[in-house]
Amino acid sequence: MKNTQSEKIIDGKAVGAEITEEIRKEVLEFSMTRKPPGLTVVIVGEDPASQSYVGMKVRKAEKIGIRSDLIEMPADISEGYFLDRIKKLNDDEDVDGILVQMPLPSHIDQQKVIEAIAPSKDVDGFHPYSLGRLAADKPTFVSCTPLGITVLLKKYGVDTKGKKVTIVGRSLIVGKPMALLLSGQSDTGNATVTICHSRTVDLKDATIDADILIAAAGQPYMITGDMVKEGVVAIDVGTTRVEDPTRKKGYRLAGDIDFDSVYPRASLITPVPGGVGPMTVTMLMKNTLLAAKWARGMPDESA
Ligand code: NDP
Repeated sequence: MKNTQSEKIIDGKAVGAEITEEIRKEVLEFSMTRKPPGLTVVIVGEDPASQSYVGMKVRKAEKIGIRSDLIEMPADISEGYFLDRIKKLNDDEDVDGILVQMPLPSHIDQQKVIEAIAPSKDVDGFHPYSLGRLAADKPTFVSCTPLGITVLLKKYGVDTKGKKVTIVGRSLIVGKPMALLLSGQSDTGNATVTICHSRTVDLKDATIDADILIAAAGQPYMITGDMVKEGVVAIDVGTTRVEDPTRKKGYRLAGDIDFDSVYPRASLITPVPGGVGPMTVTMLMKNTLLAAKWARGMPDESA
């Protein structure tokens, strides 16, 4: 995979666009003889970042021929009503995939909501059933961000077999599924994985030997050049809005990796924005198509 900026910069936008086009063609072919895939996106409240993310997801789905529905609910909705609404979506045959935009207001138990979604419609891959299948190396929905990262690594010819990988962050949506994918037995796995978190005592000790470093902590610029080895493949998941009066919007997106000091030592590096982000929404489309395939009785295959 070549890109226009630099041989070293992983161009997630270009890879995302290429894969989106492949999915669009597949959706078209699929929909010639079957009901087109359908994605329902649910948002609670009016958080501007969440609204922008759901807008992006719905527009992308429509663009590639996936039927999409946006359900908007007020921030003060009760947990009971919300869970009941999810149950109705589980029972609705027109809905192949359900995505609930996180975070939810604090009075709604996020984990309860994740577990209320039918595993067969869990296109985000957050359900314990999906995570358990992933841990067992079985076909399942894989969380979109880690899945997108494995696609990027493959596209750029990074062989993970036998490599030392350090992941900073242990969330159920990024760090843990990433570790399961990379330590699993597929051709995008077989790595030796170290997971770090806020209680890790000496972070540099864990990052300095890594062949592949994945930063997913949400701590702007925490990984600096002195913490990585020469030739590292540096993947930045972090996306934090930091104030920036020089920008029209008043903020910029900051990654967890200090790009300027890591870039000279890296063999490959993802920028923020334009690296991992575009892959996340693309993998959601892939998972939705997969949900529709499974719902229409097509053979078992992983995303
Ligand atoms: P969480 O807040 O759920 O998890 C953050 C993880 O990082 C936790 O495990 C936490 O440890 C760990 N951590 C926090 N501070 C440190 C530190 N100083 N040293 C080591 N570990 C630390 O975040 P998410 O996993 O949901 O997201 C992580 C980042 O990725 C965010 O910036 C988010 O916006 C971004 N993101 C980007 C996506 C994309 O498409 N580009 C998609 C999803 C997320 P502990 O468990 O001990 O608290």
